[in-house]
Amino acid sequence: GVGRTLILLGHGSHLNADSAAAVRRHARAVRAQGRFGEVLEGYWKEEPSLRQLLRLARFRDVTVVPLFVSEGYFTGTVIPRELGFEWRGPVPPGGLSTVLEGRRVHYTRPYGVHPDMAEVIAARATEVCGEWSPERTALVVLGHGTGRDRQSQQAIEQAAAALRGRGRFAEVQALYLDQAPRVDDWAALTRSPDVVIVPFFASEGWHTQDTIPHDLGLTGAVTEFPELPGGPRRVFYSRPVGTHPAVTRVIVRLVEDSLDAPLSPEEPAWRAAGEALLRAARSSGGGLSVGEVQVAPLPGGGFDLRSQEDAGHSDLTPVALADLAAWTGRTADGAHRPIRTQRSLPRGWRAEVCAGELRAALHAVYPAVLEEASAWENGALPVVPWADTADRQSGLYAAVQRAGPAQVARARSTTCTGCLRTPLWAGEPLGTTFLAGDPQGLPCPEACTLLVAAVREELSSHQETPAQ
Ligand code: SF4
Repeated sequence: GVGRTLILLGHGSHLNADSAAAVRRHARAVRAQGRFGEVLEGYWKEEPSLRQLLRLARFRDVTVVPLFVSEGYFTGTVIPRELGFEWRGPVPPGGLSTVLEGRRVHYTRPYGVHPDMAEVIAARATEVCGEWSPERTALVVLGHGTGRDRQSQQAIEQAAAALRGRGRFAEVQALYLDQAPRVDDWAALTRSPDVVIVPFFASEGWHTQDTIPHDLGLTGAVTEFPELPGGPRRVFYSRPVGTHPAVTRVIVRLVEDSLDAPLSPEEPAWRAAGEALLRAARSSGGGLSVGEVQVAPLPGGGFDLRSQEDAGHSDLTPVALADLAAWTGRTADGAHRPIRTQRSLPRGWRAEVCAGELRAALHAVYPAVLEEASAWENGALPVVPWADTADRQSGLYAAVQRAGPAQVARARSTTCTGCLRTPLWAGEPLGTTFLAGDPQGLPCPEACTLLVAAVREELSSHQETPAQ
């Protein structure tokens, strides 16, 4: 077929499985529209990682959209760097285009800067306070703000200005958590008796659910403040803009505004990997084993996926393909699994898919392992040495550049021993992969985000415990 690969990028988290939920929902909604040949999602702090994504793309034309509410460090530095762009800095209005790994890659600005976000803010306000009267209602668009990065305020100020121009509120203010003008001063900075606060955040999290309500003394969607100096006030507090379903429309519009290249054919290597998977799954009589997963052919031509430990069990919960990534993204105890090849796959589920869905199902459980194994079998998997991975780290993680071989080795022994992949980046040998008969043969070409975090941990625990 011909088409285009759309990649939606989020921050994700080592710690919190819900952080990726908004990206997952928007990806699902865009996919359901069927406008793009393929819609992938990727993250900075969990799998599939930014570094794996281009290898996964089915088509030569790839459009990458950062699902962030504003320009800043991630959209201007981390994402371009991780994808392989030379560019650093605010993304120009038309986006950036280049050829990477043989693909034509177009990188857009974050959705938060799109002019249609003003409507999403208004929609959030409507949800929380219904019919407001414009003369007695103030709107506060609440941003994070960093105090050092003008770029990050631009989206919020632009949206506030647009809403101010429409006259639907008596006043519209852009206030911030971490810089002036501060949201703590809302009572002094607004005059209207009713104040609607809409957090301009990409997802629910610690700030939207804890710190903001706590610091402002909010008790729910509506809080009465009967005894403020200027008279009684009411504060309406909405959910963050980024999780509103209308954001899906903004994302699609952002992509469509930036498209001019014609649709492209499927990548031969992409197709070859899918064929290799089907061959392996059909040829090995009792089914194919991949890490902790068993893929068994079904009589009608489909496949059954489950934990190997559940082989032969009949009391398993059927899980739909669309839910498989979320389902297998937690351990049996509910803990987040940012790196999916850690040996902690939950049991108790089964997924039944047709042959055309097998690849997506395997990706949902173990992102990118098919493409990496297939590239390894063909001698085409680039291995990235630790020094290069360390050099790319910045911010708090730049410290790992100081780690010596012993510290990296200790981090490996805590992190990689619990993982199914073989760390090729550390020089460990790998024979064949699961495609060629070794179920445990999963290549790891580049240190993952957990390993980087473990090295940093090594360095800091070392500093805290001086040698005896
Ligand atoms: Fe697994 Fe280690 Fe590779 Fe991370 S670096 S994916 S823990 S082998």
